[in-house]
Amino acid sequence: MIEKKLLDILVCPKCKGELIYDELKDILICKKDKIYFEIKNNIPIMVLEKAKKLDEN
Ligand SMILES: [Zn+2]
Repeated sequence: MIEKKLLDILVCPKCKGELIYDELKDILICKKDKIYFEIKNNIPIMVLEKAKKLDEN
């Protein structure tokens, strides 16, 4: 889980767009780029190189 305050200030590093938090998977999703970012120890890994494609699931 991450704090909503933190979520509000986070943007996608690729398109600078809004991210959607998936509570079940504990990931941050950019629907525009169809990628997601993992969250480790409550810290979102906002590194484009480590982003994963949504379609791979
Ligand atoms: Zn994006």
